[in-house]
Amino acid sequence: MDRPLPILTLGVREQRYSCHGCGNCCKDFTVQLRARDLEKLRVQQWEERLGEPVTVEFRGRTWLRQRADGACVFLQEDGKCRIHAEFGFAEKPTACQLFPFVLVPDPTRSRAGLSFACQSVRENKGAALSTHLAELERMSADIPETRRATDTILLADGLHAKSGELACIESVVDMWFSRTDITLRDRWDGFAWLCTSLARAQLKSVRETRFKDLLQLLASALPEELHQLRVEPASKRQLRLLRQGVFARLEDIKISDAISRGRIRTVLAQLWRSSKFSRGKGEIPRVAQGFLHGVRFEVIAASAPLSDSPDANEIDLLLARYARAMVLGGRSWGAGYYGWPAVRGLQALALNVACTAWVARARAASQGRSIALLCDVEDALGRVDRAAGRAPWLGAVGERVRLEYLRLDDGLRRILGASL
Ligand code: SF4
Repeated sequence: MDRPLPILTLGVREQRYSCHGCGNCCKDFTVQLRARDLEKLRVQQWEERLGEPVTVEFRGRTWLRQRADGACVFLQEDGKCRIHAEFGFAEKPTACQLFPFVLVPDPTRSRAGLSFACQSVRENKGAALSTHLAELERMSADIPETRRATDTILLADGLHAKSGELACIESVVDMWFSRTDITLRDRWDGFAWLCTSLARAQLKSVRETRFKDLLQLLASALPEELHQLRVEPASKRQLRLLRQGVFARLEDIKISDAISRGRIRTVLAQLWRSSKFSRGKGEIPRVAQGFLHGVRFEVIAASAPLSDSPDANEIDLLLARYARAMVLGGRSWGAGYYGWPAVRGLQALALNVACTAWVARARAASQGRSIALLCDVEDALGRVDRAAGRAPWLGAVGERVRLEYLRLDDGLRRILGASL
């Protein structure tokens, strides 16, 4: 057997993480089980001891069962995991152990990206990431596909990335989001302009050294170029696409609900909520377990952009750290993002942040505030990132078409400008 790929911990120096036991992931995620997990649960004899099933079959896969409120069946009242408490960390299902790390193989190494769905990751609390390396080595033995080299990665549709092209994108993104002399709004405006420029370019004839030159040239024009390239406010259609993107990221059907309602009623209810989001009028329908309950679309549209927040600097630091972690941790393209080409993955990252900003303003509005604070953005980012690379519909044709429309007419810049 080939030697497993070496693991590369995330190259965002300031990022830290340790689990602080908030239990949010256990109240939220639906955990798919592997054969080895099922064997562990069988040996631990949970079903005999609890007198109820601890797993559920859904659409041909086996999952950890959740309670009616969506929490894992093993979550105790003290917020701790019962498997962990009785048998130890290493006896939990592999996905539970690995979270919030995401191992993403590429042709030469396996990158340890991080999910910002974890509160400690967002708040940047805990130990240096290198201290987790031995545990990552151990856990990855149960998920060998994360240590196996993938084939080549695409730069754009139909174009395999050539030597140094992806490294150049990483370096430009890293530098842009590390700069301290630009504002929150310019930072994301510049990034959206960069992604859109790459998505419009005929990259087939601009490869390797020429691609790197092009990218360096574009980056060196920022942020001054933006002042010559002012954009109009977002159009109604672009705002509709943004709300559709938000819905796709927040939609979260619990397996227990889907089973009890039946497929047809579940799909119909989903279509109704989706079309209400698209129209953007009246009260927001129930999404993500009702966390935006009672807020009206019109109130969100009238709320202040994040740049006006008293926490704008902290929000900027958080979103910039997120962007660097996504790209350097391998979660923006290839095996880390639905097998997508790098350029489209960058566009999706910009849309993720536009959706985060919208959700943050919605959260503030749901609490009677007209301006979002850092806590709103942290919460919103957690909800948006939990779907990134994980919800199958975000890798499907609907999202690709959305990004294609937003490529036209400066769509990404305009929707980012609407919320930031
Ligand atoms: S969300 Fe993060 S900090 Fe909270 S329990 Fe899960 S891994 Fe630990």
